[in-house]
Amino acid sequence: MDALYRGLALDGRVRLFVLRLTETVREAARHVETRPTASAALGRAMAAAVLYAAGTKTADAIHLLIAGDGPLGRVVADAFRLPDGALGARGLVERPEIDLPPRSDGKLDVGGAVGRRGTLVVARELAGGPPYRGTAPLVSGEIGEDFAFYLLTSEQIPSAVGLGVLVAGDHTVEAAGGFWLHPLPGAEGEILEVLEARLREAPPVTTLLRRTPFPEAAAQALVGEAGHWETVEPVRFYCTCSEAKAARTLRLLGPKALVEEAARGRPLEVRCGFCRRRYTFPPAALRRLAEAVRSGAEEGRDET
Ligand SMILES: [Zn+2]
Repeated sequence: MDALYRGLALDGRVRLFVLRLTETVREAARHVETRPTASAALGRAMAAAVLYAAGTKTADAIHLLIAGDGPLGRVVADAFRLPDGALGARGLVERPEIDLPPRSDGKLDVGGAVGRRGTLVVARELAGGPPYRGTAPLVSGEIGEDFAFYLLTSEQIPSAVGLGVLVAGDHTVEAAGGFWLHPLPGAEGEILEVLEARLREAPPVTTLLRRTPFPEAAAQALVGEAGHWETVEPVRFYCTCSEAKAARTLRLLGPKALVEEAARGRPLEVRCGFCRRRYTFPPAALRRLAEAVRSGAEEGRDET
């Protein structure tokens, strides 16, 4: 099962998040039908969104947008704090068919697919609270480095971030996850140097995910000790689409086009890009929508 582990290390001076996200990313990649390089970008972005959601207790939802100048187009990842205490995640890439040759070190070329110039945008939502939005320029398009740079420059949190996705020969996601380390206030200077030196020697994230017992063995490789673990939160694929949201999308067609569609006598289908769920609107529903648009009425709202 996918899970987010939150803990402390190095005498309580370092906050540590370790995330296993394999099943969640596998499901998202299946829905979005990504090829390997796109799967890696999707999974890394989803891991960053979940790590950030875990570290930001004052948010119900996190939206991450990576807009680079590479062939993949935009990468979107959302993480949600669910009513049962679990974390939910979903993701999307604009061009899921993109697949590049691997880099010389054998890794998937996420930076090449995302692009090295562009913007990372983070938006936080809290029910009843003001929305928050922060941005940072991309550093490498590899997503982990970009997220760490965002945390440092936009939120003043010096961080070490590792994100990884391993794609099998049959193009399914074999492992996905990540970690986020940041010194607690007052411990920044020397600790960061120690961490950075150690992380240069650490194995790839997808190797850490296989270490047992987890997350202690992963922490051992990252910070040289097993860590003190406070909470474990289950993580699963989750989509916030609904019939009401699909109807709002259709309303954008305008009353004239809706009536024309209804006149064809066939239902109109809206398919969610994140989870592929289909919402079907028969001609009578299309006419009702057209009428509602004309009269300026709002359909039931269910924003998340
Ligand atoms: Zn959906």
